[in-house]
Amino acid sequence: MIFLDAAATTPVRREVLEAMWPYLTGEFGNPSSHHSLGDAAATALAGARAATAKALGCRPGEVIFTSGGTEADNLAVKGIALARRSADPGLDRVAISAVEHPAVEESARYLERVHGFGVDVIPVDRYGQVTEEALLAVLGPRTALVSVMYANNEVGTVQPVARLAALARERGIPFHTDAVQAAGWLPLDTGALGVDALSMSGHKLGAPKGSGALFLRGRTRVEPLVHGGGQERGRRSGTENVAGAVATATALTLAATADPAGPSGRVAALRDGFIEAVLAGVPGAFLTGHPTERLPSVASFCFPGTSGESVLLELERQGVICSSGSACAAGSDAPSPVLLAMGIEPAVAQTAVRFSFDSAITAGELQEAAAAVRTAVVSVRALGPTS
Ligand code: PLP
Repeated sequence: MIFLDAAATTPVRREVLEAMWPYLTGEFGNPSSHHSLGDAAATALAGARAATAKALGCRPGEVIFTSGGTEADNLAVKGIALARRSADPGLDRVAISAVEHPAVEESARYLERVHGFGVDVIPVDRYGQVTEEALLAVLGPRTALVSVMYANNEVGTVQPVARLAALARERGIPFHTDAVQAAGWLPLDTGALGVDALSMSGHKLGAPKGSGALFLRGRTRVEPLVHGGGQERGRRSGTENVAGAVATATALTLAATADPAGPSGRVAALRDGFIEAVLAGVPGAFLTGHPTERLPSVASFCFPGTSGESVLLELERQGVICSSGSACAAGSDAPSPVLLAMGIEPAVAQTAVRFSFDSAITAGELQEAAAAVRTAVVSVRALGPTS
């Protein structure tokens, strides 16, 4: 089997499992307990927080461990917007890009539905990028928060986050970025990015599902979503997932200390070879997303005259595992809102297939996959688009 769905999830790395193991077994204490087992857990949590902060270029107090990317996005979008509006009732709008993950999009819609916020959707260009002009067109005196993702999960397009964040901050508006797909591939220095909040998820880079973190800058106020014992400085109650925090920190550290030009440069070159082979082998196929400003790990296409789901099934029969876009929308018949926002016709958007790899991918695997794609598309086209 060739696994080309790493943007959906990755296996736990051995180093990560070894680092978290003690906190699942012998050192199982609750970090709030005042005895030696509790102290050991609290020390591990503090170490994980310091390591995560180092990888994100921030202070340990600016890291909130969460149950993953979805919770980090919810806390950033709802928590910051609600805290700002309670300080100033005139701040009652949020601006999000048209290609956000549902964790951001649905958080904004919740604010609209339940709390009466206005939602400004920032359009993207045909590559899925937010331009500075498009952002400026929606910002106003009532904007409580801007949220634009770092890299898109369906097409891999990377946003000019530092430039966009600077525009928001010049106007005193906090800027959140969903870096769930960027983590492990792009620099995560929150200082250089100039963002006020950044979400990441452990399971995209070798930590277990259900682990992740939110960076929240300095004094940025946030209304907590989970109430209870006041853990994470009152911003996220609940007994901390010590092993999950250790796993997140270890995975981030491993990714940060890997030579940035190493896996990324190597994988980007393999991705480009794969894109070339698919486009050469499949008449009518086209790449979706930005041609160069894209994650090294994502190649996404439309195959007109097919249905993406049928191509996936055919590929799986040939031993290649991939996806039609976001794992969260898998199985849904609706065309991807991300592709529609990029101006792709609904019928063509339904022919989308995403291939995403981890840093262990080899040229041989991608050659084999490109040949399988050719065969799969030919056989689906022969059966007709509704096959
Ligand atoms: N944001 C993006 C861009 C994602 O790709 C995902 C997961 O696919 C999430 C958020 C949600 O993260 P999690 O699965 O950790 O809840």
